[in-house]
Amino acid sequence: MKKKPFVTQEKLQEIIREFPTPFHLYDEKGIRENAAALKEAFSWNKGFKEFFAVKATPNPFLIDILKDYGCGCDCSSMTELMMAKACGCSDGDIMFSSNDTPDEEFCYCHEIGGIINLDDITHIPFVEKAVGYIPETISCRYNPGGLFKISNDIMDNPGDAKYGMTTDQIFEAFRILKQKGAKNFGIHAFLASNTVTNEYYPMLAKVMFELAVKLQKETGAHISFVNLSGGIGIPYSPDQEPNDIRVIGEGVRKVFEEVMVPAGMGDVAIYTELGRFMMGPYGCLVTKAIHEKHTHKEYIGVDACAVNLMRPAMYGAYHHITVMGKEHEPGDHLYDVTGSLCENNDKFAIDRYLPKVDMGDILVIHDTGAHGFSMGYNYNGKLKSAEILLCEDGSYKLIRRAETAKDYFATFDCFPEVYDKLLQ
Ligand SMILES: *Cc1c(COP(=O)(O)O)cnc(C)c1O
Repeated sequence: MKKKPFVTQEKLQEIIREFPTPFHLYDEKGIRENAAALKEAFSWNKGFKEFFAVKATPNPFLIDILKDYGCGCDCSSMTELMMAKACGCSDGDIMFSSNDTPDEEFCYCHEIGGIINLDDITHIPFVEKAVGYIPETISCRYNPGGLFKISNDIMDNPGDAKYGMTTDQIFEAFRILKQKGAKNFGIHAFLASNTVTNEYYPMLAKVMFELAVKLQKETGAHISFVNLSGGIGIPYSPDQEPNDIRVIGEGVRKVFEEVMVPAGMGDVAIYTELGRFMMGPYGCLVTKAIHEKHTHKEYIGVDACAVNLMRPAMYGAYHHITVMGKEHEPGDHLYDVTGSLCENNDKFAIDRYLPKVDMGDILVIHDTGAHGFSMGYNYNGKLKSAEILLCEDGSYKLIRRAETAKDYFATFDCFPEVYDKLLQ
């Protein structure tokens, strides 16, 4: 599928006059249409709820948009819980799918009405001690081990993942939790990441629904929800086909009718914790070409770096690049597109054919709406960029300003003799 930026060159130029590059830009229209399609695809399930994986794009303005479609928040840290609460999440709107969790985070989650999703059986006494009792509504994360396969394709390797409980442990956990007063149970699993196939969710649903039926039968615990978590992917590369959320929702419904309904569990709610699927395609990193270098290879240096988007450096991930205004020119120049870090992996693209890039050209790096800005760091003392929302009506607004040197030095503020000198 041909990849086109969601913003025109004229609009970008208008934005850049006010806010210098680099910045992440988000597409309100795309976010809304996609969230509405997800809601519709699962509307057959009365209790359906998406808990947006806040870590993907932790920005209150974006979380607010998703709230219009009934979304809650999936959190995994104290600050994410704080953000969810500030965004108006209340009882039942927060899923806390954390791991290796400090006790104060369990307490805070419970205090603000979040649902604790236990990553391990040993967390039962840990939560009981931290909170003082076992909450009535509680979830357990499952890890069946082995490889997760669709037909003969290996999707991922749960047996190698640090998350979740084994089959024996989750049965034991349910018995213990029930005995300690838990009343509404959930199960959760995340078995494959960034899947670009409509089969992942239905396959996962089959595993989870069968487990739910067995758990309820054998432990007597009342299952209220099955949480299919994240993992629905997006087509980063132009040769991938996007998932069809309607087909996915219908696939899950079929398995629900086959497994849950005959077991008398037709009232169980489906939960999701999508991050990438909710935001990924609806964000891009806007950057400017500032250097060209002709040595053993041809390099284009841009004003963004891995601090703004870490996925290529960290995973070798492909992110499509459009040179604005040159969409119809032939991609006949072979480039490495680099950032400025003193790290040779700071490259947004390696051996990529693009139209000839001239200094001052604006490059749009696609699909940075999830796990983009949020993975940022401050290596080399580089500052994080602004985030801007392209609104549905075509206007735009700043939804996070760019970091300043003052922000970067702020943690020295308890040493005035050092801090003041840094800011001179
Ligand atoms: C990261 C994560 C998600 C979101 O994953 P996506 O691939 O972005 O959909 C959901 N749940 C948990 C527990 C996660 O760690």
